[in-house]
Amino acid sequence: MAENTSNFIHDFIDEDIAAGKTEKVHTRFPPEPNGYLHIGHCKALVIDFGTAKKYGGICNLRMDDTNPAKEDTEYVDAIQEDIHWLGFDWEDRFFYGSDYFEKTYELAEALIKKGDAYVCELTPEQFKEYRGDLTHPAISPFRDRPAEESLDLFRRMRAGEFPEGKYTLRAKIDLASGNFNMRDPVLYRIRYIEHHRQGTKWCIFPMYDFAHPIQDALECITHSLCSLEYEDHRPLYNWVIEHCDVPSTPRQIEFARLNITNTVLSKRYLRYLVENNIVDGWDDPRMPTLCGLRRRGYTPESILDFIDRIGVSKANSMVDIGLLEHCVREDLNNRAQRRIAVLKPIKLIIDNYPEDKTEYFDITNNPNDPEAGTRKVPFTKEIYIDADDFAEVPPPKFFRLKPGGEVRLMSSYIIKCGDIVKNEDGSIKEIHCTADLEVGTGTPTDRKVKGTIHWLSAEYAQDATVVMYDRLFTEENMNDLPEDKSYIDFLNPESAVKVENVKIEPSLAEAANGEKFQFVRIGYFAKDTKNENTFNRVVSLKDSYKPQ
Ligand code: ATP
Ligand code: MG
Repeated sequence: MAENTSNFIHDFIDEDIAAGKTEKVHTRFPPEPNGYLHIGHCKALVIDFGTAKKYGGICNLRMDDTNPAKEDTEYVDAIQEDIHWLGFDWEDRFFYGSDYFEKTYELAEALIKKGDAYVCELTPEQFKEYRGDLTHPAISPFRDRPAEESLDLFRRMRAGEFPEGKYTLRAKIDLASGNFNMRDPVLYRIRYIEHHRQGTKWCIFPMYDFAHPIQDALECITHSLCSLEYEDHRPLYNWVIEHCDVPSTPRQIEFARLNITNTVLSKRYLRYLVENNIVDGWDDPRMPTLCGLRRRGYTPESILDFIDRIGVSKANSMVDIGLLEHCVREDLNNRAQRRIAVLKPIKLIIDNYPEDKTEYFDITNNPNDPEAGTRKVPFTKEIYIDADDFAEVPPPKFFRLKPGGEVRLMSSYIIKCGDIVKNEDGSIKEIHCTADLEVGTGTPTDRKVKGTIHWLSAEYAQDATVVMYDRLFTEENMNDLPEDKSYIDFLNPESAVKVENVKIEPSLAEAANGEKFQFVRIGYFAKDTKNENTFNRVVSLKDSYKPQ
């Protein structure tokens, strides 16, 4: 987030500072380590870390591992790597929600002793049945259980005396509240499940709505920024802060979640794709995860630029994925070196060029960056051009190579098309041409040559594999699908088209993993970090994004 920009969250913080409620802004980013971070989380963490930075404050990284199911250290490590990759740091303020289990338990006991919480023994089915509705309050037959009895039961719940579902601890708030979160919400439940850090130490676990405000308050967070679905939970957040003896009073502020067209931003959906091998892991280059975007070839700068452009608002909206693509295209246009690749090679022989000569042409590395300089690209009698740059029966206004026509080989000779030699099946075996050796790289005075095509020396070119990645889903709004359809029904069958036997410039054979290039006239590509000698298409050259 640009530090000089403002938004409604900053307005609230300014108010708190002016009122003397906040001295030093302290935020936190609390990912649940049950999957990899996606670009939606990126919005949240940029808001958390960015807001702290803007106010000269600090931001904690806290693993929200309160819920023991599906959490894993693999995710904990990946989350840290991804945040660092984006350029944010928490220094020594790295915490686990589960480290506060003992303190949270003590606070729960204190609530019971004060008569603010009680042990309930409704079954989950009864709990639902007794919830009431807008005109009827909830019914809770156990809410007047004496504190000593609740305390005894709660201690025995912790000691593992009861099966799952037998008892819960509930806050005593308001059974008639119009906000169902306030109808004596559950604070603790029994779960016999191993925790990734606590092992089997605990068989009762606090609910998020109880644990989160306590964790925030214990860390002295001043502003707890979260997405909009927690808005209805704010009264409960405040209730917990008010009724528990905690060292600070954090303020929760909600912002809209990020939604992007043609993708899904939900760990549950993304995990399904991974676990069912629909994609090649969390870092599949089509995934909206940060590791997927990184492997695809997105730069941190382009992602931060995107987050900056979408802004922070309170209203949910759908952002065009074209904007994300636009951001990386713009970044790579400025920074990526140009190289030549021929995706559909056909052989072209220059009849009037000597057999064993190699000549080197200087080609500009990046027209947008003079400091990037030039490189030498070898030229020989036999070259490859792209099949799409030749048409035997050319459509109107076809300025590439055609029978009898002339074309410029990029930064090299002008060639004129001669004989076309076919294979038995009628496909083109080779095209014979003559080069204007006199004019060379200069401009002829007697005629105009309109088209320029790229080429590679057949002798020096190397082979590679290219994967033409595209959007993962065909449907724009993946949040609004017909009821009888699943999101899986909308997978784009063309989202990863592998092209083998691509010819690449010799220098590309030494490209580092993750290095990015513009393949001239084709698009932006990144050397894959997993598969050898493979280049991933980040994005095409053509910008489809239209600002609204
Ligand atoms: P998911 O639905 O993908 O599982 P989550 O909200 O359960 O997401 P958490 O790990 O709990 O995932 O999220 C950490 C933080 O990121 C939370 O503050 C959450 O509000 C925020 N967040 C998650 N998804 C988005 C999104 N699409 N846009 C903005 N913020 C998000
Ligand atoms: Mg969550």
